[in-house]
Amino acid sequence: MRIDILTVFPEMFQEALSGSIIGKAREKGLIKINVYNIRDFATDKHRMTDDYPFGGGKGMIMKPEPVFAAVEHVLEDAKGKPARVILMTPQGKTLDQDTVRDLAEEEHMIIICGRYEGIDERIRCSLATDEISIGDYVLTGGELPAMVLVDAVTRFVPGVLSEETLISESFTSGLLDYPQYTRPREFRGMAVPDVLVSGDHEKIRLWRRKQSLARTLERRPDLLDMASLSEEDLKLLDEIKKEKFSDLTREDPGNEHD
Ligand code: SAM
Repeated sequence: MRIDILTVFPEMFQEALSGSIIGKAREKGLIKINVYNIRDFATDKHRMTDDYPFGGGKGMIMKPEPVFAAVEHVLEDAKGKPARVILMTPQGKTLDQDTVRDLAEEEHMIIICGRYEGIDERIRCSLATDEISIGDYVLTGGELPAMVLVDAVTRFVPGVLSEETLISESFTSGLLDYPQYTRPREFRGMAVPDVLVSGDHEKIRLWRRKQSLARTLERRPDLLDMASLSEEDLKLLDEIKKEKFSDLTREDPGNEHD
């Protein structure tokens, strides 16, 4: 997969895209990432990338010419092959695991990082094929959102992580992940659940599935409505609800007098 990032702060990407899983994926040639400075595509004397808004108002607006020139340069470099042109914007579709998986199947993504008060509308309507937000809050620029997107997509590029890792993670199976432990077996009076050191793989599998279901029920019940649940899952959910109910009644001091 090829990813081209267009930004006025290319230096922000150096560390983020060179270490860990992304760095290794690049070394192995599984992804190729180029970072372009939009300023290099400005043609005026001062290499301006922003200008005042028509109609007045506060803040500056990202100019269209350098962004169009940068995208056209990248497309030409890619021999005219089509690409998803993604604009990072708080007004876009909120990024989720389905979108990440969909994008990981693309051969080429161009990511535009906005800055200033916003970007010229013509970039949005005639350059971008997708508009993506990383959440309902406003950041000062599209660089951090672009890093989030590249990180999430890279994990799904074939060969980067094992199938097993991806399958067991939060959201992939439609549920949140189960709790994980490592050594020491006991830490500050908190012990690892016995089942995890029992060596009984079937019991461990069931415990993990039940924990996943319980966590999802407690924290993100909306996900359960969309998850494809097996007969076994429904039985486990029933158990969880009953256990929860009996915990609640046990905790209720009024019950002690019944
Ligand atoms: N005035 C714009 C608005 O209300 O839609 C926000 C501009 S923001 C200060 C500058 C840039 O940061 C945006 O063009 C976008 O590229 C990026 N950005 C800010 N928040 C974002 C978010 N939640 N998701 C994706 N990109 C974001």
